[in-house]
Amino acid sequence: MNQLIRCKNCDEIFMKTPFDHCPEYKFDPGRSLENFRSIETDDYRDFLTQHQGHQLENLNIIEDSFVSKKAYSEPVKASFFKATNGKEKFVIKKFREKIDEPLKYLLIPGDYSLKYSAIEIQSEEISKQLKRELNPSLSQNKIDAFLKLYRAIAEDIDIKDLERIPEESHYPLEIYYRLDDIHSMFLLRNCRNIFKGQEYSAIEEFIQRHKDDGVLLLKATYKIKLTEIAKPRKKAITASFPLKKEKIAAKK
Ligand SMILES: [Zn+2]
Repeated sequence: MNQLIRCKNCDEIFMKTPFDHCPEYKFDPGRSLENFRSIETDDYRDFLTQHQGHQLENLNIIEDSFVSKKAYSEPVKASFFKATNGKEKFVIKKFREKIDEPLKYLLIPGDYSLKYSAIEIQSEEISKQLKRELNPSLSQNKIDAFLKLYRAIAEDIDIKDLERIPEESHYPLEIYYRLDDIHSMFLLRNCRNIFKGQEYSAIEEFIQRHKDDGVLLLKATYKIKLTEIAKPRKKAITASFPLKKEKIAAKK
């Protein structure tokens, strides 16, 4: 229901949301979005007044392009998504600096990609789960030794070899991966140096139980890499060039 409008002259955008005009919202399911008429709010009217005579266009938000450094539920944050007019792509920064401020939208010419940053094991969860499930319980020293071993193995893994788990993460920049067979074998083999007899059997079962969807999933964190493109604007170039020349001439 959100409508993203770009002024082509100013490269400014406005996000029209149903929330803006909630009490006056009229929904007619028989009509398409293009013909959809809603009662304008003051903000939208201001935008239209400000850009009177300018060329406006609708942008479509690119699905699944949303990224943010903070949790989905965090209200004060900056996030990014991509939108297109069918020909060009844009990056939109959506942000709010204070909780009582309205959301702001900024158009950034350029693109972004997610850059892999680090891989981690879920130490705390593994430790809790080991204490809960293993009977007789392991000593803290053995739990620490297991975590140390698993961490060392995880650090050595190339993320490209792993299978991504499409699990809902609360953080857009955290992705979970399943430990591959080679590394789980390697983990088991090294566990023989820490655990013996029954303890080894218990840890082996623990690994089998949790490697596919539980606490042994590896957590990779990503960073947003924004590449801004300084858009050459015809108007700006033609306006500034003779101006510069004049300045130089005046100095002489
Ligand atoms: Zn404008």
